[in-house]
Amino acid sequence: MLAIPAYNKFVTDWNWSNYSAELKSRGRSKLSEEDLRLIEKAFKYAAGAHNGQKRFSGEPFLNHVVAVSLNTADLKLDAKTVSAALLHDTVEDSAATFREIKKLFGDEIYFLVRGVTKVNKLKYRGAERAAESMRRMFLAVAQDIRVVVLKLVDRRHNMKTLWALPDPEKRLRIATETLDIYAPLADRLGMGELKGELEDSAFGYVHPHEYEWMKNEIQERMPERERYIQKIMPLVKKEMHAEKIKLSDISARAKHVYSAWRKLLRNDMNWDRILDLVALRLTVENIESCYAALGVIHKLWRPVPGRIKDYIALPKFNGYQSLHTTVFCLEGQPTEFQIRTREMHKEAEYGIAAHWFWEGAGKPKIGAKFVGRKFEWVRQLQEWQKEKKKEKSSSKDFLESLKIDFFKNRIFVLTPKGDVIDLPDGATPIDFAYHIHSEIGNRAAGAKVNSRLVSFDYKLASGDIVEIMTQKNRKPSPEWLNLTRTSLAKSQIRKELRTNLAVTETKPKETEFEIKVRDRIGILKDVSAVFSDFRINIRTITSLASSSLYPAINVKFEPKNREQIEKIKTRLKKIGGVESIAEKN
Ligand code: MN
Repeated sequence: MLAIPAYNKFVTDWNWSNYSAELKSRGRSKLSEEDLRLIEKAFKYAAGAHNGQKRFSGEPFLNHVVAVSLNTADLKLDAKTVSAALLHDTVEDSAATFREIKKLFGDEIYFLVRGVTKVNKLKYRGAERAAESMRRMFLAVAQDIRVVVLKLVDRRHNMKTLWALPDPEKRLRIATETLDIYAPLADRLGMGELKGELEDSAFGYVHPHEYEWMKNEIQERMPERERYIQKIMPLVKKEMHAEKIKLSDISARAKHVYSAWRKLLRNDMNWDRILDLVALRLTVENIESCYAALGVIHKLWRPVPGRIKDYIALPKFNGYQSLHTTVFCLEGQPTEFQIRTREMHKEAEYGIAAHWFWEGAGKPKIGAKFVGRKFEWVRQLQEWQKEKKKEKSSSKDFLESLKIDFFKNRIFVLTPKGDVIDLPDGATPIDFAYHIHSEIGNRAAGAKVNSRLVSFDYKLASGDIVEIMTQKNRKPSPEWLNLTRTSLAKSQIRKELRTNLAVTETKPKETEFEIKVRDRIGILKDVSAVFSDFRINIRTITSLASSSLYPAINVKFEPKNREQIEKIKTRLKKIGGVESIAEKN
């Protein structure tokens, strides 16, 4: 099985000579002198920057960046990415600065290291409904597929030593993030093996009991299953030989623990339904041989109805291609077979990274289509790469195509709780506020971005954490219409402005009280004091001697509302000498 080679050696004395030897042993002997000089410079810089630093596991810190860079080399990434992998933690964890990285290593490596550092600032807090947005934001912030791949192998290595992290809450957060964000991203980039590894490494932290149970169940079932597979293999080989189908490889593939558990959950925990706990994988020369081999298997053993899947004609969303079938095999036991070409196999293991070395080898890639709106961005990405291939672009242009620019018109920002809000480019804190809730927008009094106060015309950027401060009696200002990019915010502002206007129009107009009093010194002053207590300006106040029994004081004023009128009346009645209050309009 062609997996990404794991790096497990506990070497404590990495130096340029053993590192460069390791690099070459991983199929990178074709690196040019110039490439090697660049990587050497990065290696020595990283060794200096991380000198004396240790990981929680007790290893020298340098081991981590060496492991990540060797993994990027395994994935056939370019020398700049291998160098960026060596440098990826220098700015965050040592005295190095971006300015220095840019000066010493140039714009592209600076761009990659900065991308990794920016992604590191995103914290997923396990709100599952936000996972999809979070994955999109991850991509928008990374800006380049190489940064995404770098982060995936970085996380893969960090998961191996997660046990050493002393804070259990942090362990759980990182494992949950791996399960909800990183593994699905690896899946979408078609990196099936990496996805399975990430899931299995996080499973035990996120669901410890289920993980223990699964491990025991599999350990019990596996030996018998493996003996069984060993019996089938020679039969398949013999039959393929007889039918003149050239087998490049035949191997047994154990299902990953986490995906087996998910499958059990979907199937009422019925183990009999997990037919692919161990599957047989046949690799053949070309697509014709795939279908011919399927025919041979079906001739040997009867297929289980509904279990034949042609992912060659209908690839999975992430480009995965293969023929799958389950047959009633020896002793009537259902057994899964996967049949594919070598190219399909590499594609399934390396995913998007497979494009780098195919490009290098100048071979055409088998066309795969991404379907479904949910995976629109994957489809766009692939379309883009196909376009680039048609143009027969130089390798420099090809690297350009790794830019994630289908998000160029969108930004992804976070609430303080970690929820992701997706906004158009140029959006301001007011757009953000209205996207949280119309009341937050209407009452917005101020905004903070990454804990710093900003003005309402501030242009938000992907990865920003935005906080809106509200005040009870705040109202939107008409000027906000010019500060917003989203139609949602604009329509809410207009609606609120109209409501406020309507309130003004319906409030009672000028009211007049005719207060009959028994005339005494100071009564006029007492009456006007009531109005000033309510902060009401009296329009006119006239004191008329009337022909009736009592003289009248006429007060014209503008009340705020009906309630206020009643309150004023009550107060006035308490004044000694006030006999009656009549309201005139
Ligand atoms: Mn790292």
